[in-house]
Amino acid sequence: MHDHYFIENIIKQVPNKNKVISIEIELGDLAEIDAGHLKEHLTSHTSWKVEVKVIPSKIKCLCGYIGEARVLQRLHDLVIYDCPECSHEPDIVEGKDIKITKVIYR
Ligand SMILES: [Zn+2]
Ligand SMILES: [Zn+2]
Repeated sequence: MHDHYFIENIIKQVPNKNKVISIEIELGDLAEIDAGHLKEHLTSHTSWKVEVKVIPSKIKCLCGYIGEARVLQRLHDLVIYDCPECSHEPDIVEGKDIKITKVIYR
């Protein structure tokens, strides 16, 4: 199995790893991994119960559009998106982050 740098990063951020029962993660819709895949990777490296919540993206385009990006294609570690109004590649305001929001210990 391949690795993604942020999987290790997430695991590194959690103190007392051996006592963790479950973990909750917020995943931006434009992050370079999808929710199922992130979960799969994390559970293969740990014994944690993993909950992933997907947060809608927010983009800002030159055409004036502000809102959710249109996702054209979701590949293994790549998301292709554009502005739903003009099809240009917009700036991302929100949607790339992977955040730990909750850790439950035994
Ligand atoms: Zn992978
Ligand atoms: Zn646009």
